[in-house]
Amino acid sequence: MGYARLDLVYVVSKLAEAAIRRATGLSYSLSDVPSSLQEVGKEIVERVAEQLIIDDGETLRCRICGRGPFTRKGLYLHIRRVHLDSIYDMVRSELEAYLWRLKNT
Ligand SMILES: [Zn+2]
Repeated sequence: MGYARLDLVYVVSKLAEAAIRRATGLSYSLSDVPSSLQEVGKEIVERVAEQLIIDDGETLRCRICGRGPFTRKGLYLHIRRVHLDSIYDMVRSELEAYLWRLKNT
């Protein structure tokens, strides 16, 4: 499996954006992600998205810092503006774990 470092940075940025959109109920697409990574990409988006928001049915809050309540759009903007680096880290470690398993099993 030869993924250049630059490709991974690109994939990480696409999956991070998708995870934020997924978490805040906005539509997302993984069509820009290489097809060999789309399936695992979808799983990573789901797992990361679950860690981003608290939705008690009435209000939306940021799970990372607890701030809120937000509208969906407001929460999307908040997470992008304040937590993008953390989300890159979450996605990158999930993706690296997947690629490591591919290579070693
Ligand atoms: Zn926050």
